[in-house]
Amino acid sequence: MSNTDFTLAVEDLTVSFDGFKAIDDLTLYIDRNELRVIIGPNGAGKTTLLDLICGKTRASAGSIKFKNNELTKMAEHKRVRLGIGRKFQTPSIYENLSVFQNLEVSFPKGRSVFGALAFKCDDEVKAKVQAIAQEIGLADRLETEAGLLSHGQKQWLEIGMLLMQEPELLMLDEPIAGMSARERELTADLLKRICQNRAVIVIEHDMAFVKQIAHKVTVMHQGKILAEGPMEKVQADPKVIDVYLGH
Ligand code: ADP
Ligand code: MG
Repeated sequence: MSNTDFTLAVEDLTVSFDGFKAIDDLTLYIDRNELRVIIGPNGAGKTTLLDLICGKTRASAGSIKFKNNELTKMAEHKRVRLGIGRKFQTPSIYENLSVFQNLEVSFPKGRSVFGALAFKCDDEVKAKVQAIAQEIGLADRLETEAGLLSHGQKQWLEIGMLLMQEPELLMLDEPIAGMSARERELTADLLKRICQNRAVIVIEHDMAFVKQIAHKVTVMHQGKILAEGPMEKVQADPKVIDVYLGH
């Protein structure tokens, strides 16, 4: 496979904050329809890596190619339009709007809340909202005010809002933090379904959850990749046990 066949090709990526390399000459490839989990100790650079891919932070050196488009100098909104979706740790839903309205405003045609609400709710948007609501397990909650949802349901709604844009790469930073055991199970199922149509990168600490969802695991440490491969291989790696799993 050549490097141009990957959905995401990160090569020799570095970012320095006042001389400190939070990401240090990192190379990583993500396949189409791959679910990759990134693990590693606090401060390893996991969140910074996602920031660099989505454009929240600018790279100091190296290359990030998405579907063979160079991203490093591209504005954040253009990366979104190319098909990159990013879920942050704190959900950004509109608490006083219904589930339906939250999904509706995320339809690519209407980017601002007011623009999208003024925009006529045609059949195409309605059908899409319904399909996504089904996917995220909120089909019977369409009229519920988002603020009244459980913590887990709010996380799923935000995932749904990202799915409305049909991203080809979806990135999630610690999506199950604060979820109940049942919500974690449902989230694992959701992520497994979602990656059938796109690449997914998940940062996660919960090893039982990682084992359940990961195709491959990347272990980061001090801005570099410490180990990469199937969960069983990574888990048995003495370097990984030493810096992360042993603690
Ligand atoms: P992780 O998500 O793996 O816990 P982060 O990516 O959040 O780690 O952080 C990696 C390192 O980079 C940390 O030492 C953090 O303090 C530093 N860092 C992250 N963002 C910035 C920034 N904007 N300015 C300075 N230092 C930063
Ligand atoms: Mg982090």
